[in-house]
Amino acid sequence: MVMSEIFGSLVFNDTVMQERLPKYTYKELMSCIADNEPISLSCATVIANAMKDWAIEKGCTHYTHWFQPMTGITAEKHDAFIQPTSDGKVIMEFSGKELIKGEPDASSFPSGGIRATFEARGYTAWDPTSYAFVKDGTLCIPTAFVSYTGEVLDKKTPLLKSMNALSKTACRILKLFGKNVKKVITTVGPEQEYFLIDKSVYEKRKDLIYSGRTLFGAPAPKGQELEDHYFGTIKQRVVKYMADLDKELWKLGVLAKTKHNEVAPAQHELAPIFSQSNVAADANQLTMEMMKKVASRHGMVCLLHEKPFEGVNGSGKHNNWSMSTDKGENLLEPGDTPEDNAQFLLFLSAVIKAVDEYQDLLRLSVASAGNDHRLGANEAPPAIVSMFLGEELDGILTAIAEDRTYSKRAKCEYEIGVSSLPKFTKDSTDRNRTSPFAFTGNKFEFRMLGSTFSISGPNIILNTIVAESLDQFADRLEGAEDFMASVKELIKETFIKHRRIIFNGNGYSDEWVKEAKKRGLLNLESTPEALPYFKHKKNVELFEKHGIFSELEVNSRTDIMLENYSKVVNIEALTMIDMANKQILPAVTTYVKELAKTALATKELGFEATAQIETAKKLTALSANAATTLKKLKEKVSKAESIVGTEEKAMFYRTDVIPYMNKLRKDADEMEVNTADKYWPFPTYGAILFSVKD
Ligand code: ADP
Ligand code: MG
Repeated sequence: MVMSEIFGSLVFNDTVMQERLPKYTYKELMSCIADNEPISLSCATVIANAMKDWAIEKGCTHYTHWFQPMTGITAEKHDAFIQPTSDGKVIMEFSGKELIKGEPDASSFPSGGIRATFEARGYTAWDPTSYAFVKDGTLCIPTAFVSYTGEVLDKKTPLLKSMNALSKTACRILKLFGKNVKKVITTVGPEQEYFLIDKSVYEKRKDLIYSGRTLFGAPAPKGQELEDHYFGTIKQRVVKYMADLDKELWKLGVLAKTKHNEVAPAQHELAPIFSQSNVAADANQLTMEMMKKVASRHGMVCLLHEKPFEGVNGSGKHNNWSMSTDKGENLLEPGDTPEDNAQFLLFLSAVIKAVDEYQDLLRLSVASAGNDHRLGANEAPPAIVSMFLGEELDGILTAIAEDRTYSKRAKCEYEIGVSSLPKFTKDSTDRNRTSPFAFTGNKFEFRMLGSTFSISGPNIILNTIVAESLDQFADRLEGAEDFMASVKELIKETFIKHRRIIFNGNGYSDEWVKEAKKRGLLNLESTPEALPYFKHKKNVELFEKHGIFSELEVNSRTDIMLENYSKVVNIEALTMIDMANKQILPAVTTYVKELAKTALATKELGFEATAQIETAKKLTALSANAATTLKKLKEKVSKAESIVGTEEKAMFYRTDVIPYMNKLRKDADEMEVNTADKYWPFPTYGAILFSVKD
């Protein structure tokens, strides 16, 4: 098949709709999408019918409302198209009602106490801005998931709401610049990192199976120190995998574009071309799902965990984000006309203000048990939120703040006048890889996301906080006598007030931690520390003002995330106990026995057996230590399980359980180093990281 036939071949996209829908139906749908209006039932009926015929031609027998519950993964419940007829047969049917609304049993999805089980019903509603597609013989309809009492139960609804909030306020600002824009959309291009390992090693590791990461494992003799993997030649087996993955994603209309090796052995990355946030979120969920599926087909396992291996780089997801008008004008594009520069600097200021005022929300939007291993660990941005603007933008804003003319070295001089704000070129040279939130030419790159994350959460926050800045700006500028002078004043004021959030230095350094503290920036090191900020008054007020979350929803979401943290750590602790008890300690005992036997035999012959005896001694001491730690860990886990409050529980896991897990690991890894390969009960780091061969 040629590319043009592959791309989107499983998607009910615009081309298909134009082909298959009556003109008036297509027009009604498009205008509903443009105006954010719900579509009529009669329109839905026509679309449903066309969708069904198309899906059946693609081999479908079922349809599903495909949604994103708060577990972070996607959910689907498949229904057949069949409808019984009076003569005992069936016909294939799909009604408008079934298209726009579904009623899955909501009781098994986390709701954080929103629903009592007796009213465990929710409904899913079609998001017509994200295309329907075919996956595994099922027509998938991207939907939002809401409870019958109106509370939102998923990640998509608030994302759409946040996009609306931003659109509304951004349009107000653009109007002041004389632009009549109906809609502003937020755009995202998420770069996805992942590991590929051979299935045979995966299956021998309970920790990978239960928790997605290794909980034990001494470093391999070779790791990433030679830096020979990053952008290196891709192994043949991986090449084939990537080609297959691309093809599957293209069929689904996912704009997979760039692929390369990452820093660590066995680590890779895939980046798509950006699209509007909700579409990008759906596409990223599909990407993660396909990465796993296709890997399995190739005898491999795709690990999406943030930290599958200690001492080796973890995986993140870079969230490239911008705002653009319905006419395609990127609002973070510096541009080259003076008026647009004023507009650009105003939007830029809105982001600066937002990131400073709501650092806590950005930080907690990327908080999870898995991501705690990355943030601040010298491989990912620190847990402190700060922004990187680059020398040029920083210089321009500083000049505005100090009422002086900005001059960029010898190259050219900028006049910072009221109506002649500077021209500037895209400054892609000074990229700062250590910044959590970096301006990269015409977009911001939020780099704190973990690789397993749904991008919805962080983008809900990003859109909402920028909407709030823009709202405040619009309130002020709408009444201004001299608009341009007020714009300049506002840019100046904002920069002076919020410049503490801007940091262009090395974000991985200890000095930055100290400096950030001096500046009064938050350093929320772990998930249990970060999450409670969600409920702070200023944050609840923000969400309520923009209609994103009610207080009840904020509380329930905080609980869900905290519970998730506790559950993840609990599973990891139990897995460690299991592996230590049933695999590691017995293996070490057997090896010690072998050493002892050998030592005795050697002595009988009249030789010294120092090596065997020393190793046996060391291993015996380490096992004794590990056994004590194991006992303590078990006690702590039982205690944790009995704690009722979600905040207290999560914090207890962090302060009381995790240290014993670390202690146990230390002893076990030391035992691994001292035990002969053939006695060690599961594949070592070396065997796993280099398991995928050419
Ligand atoms: P890099 O040099 O970091 O690879 P790219 O320009 O290739 O930078 O962009 C990386 C990601 O950012 C890609 O997924 C790309 O589609 C996305 N991106 C580019 N422009 C925008 C934008 N305006 N809004 C959102 N994402 C964008
Ligand atoms: Mg990047």
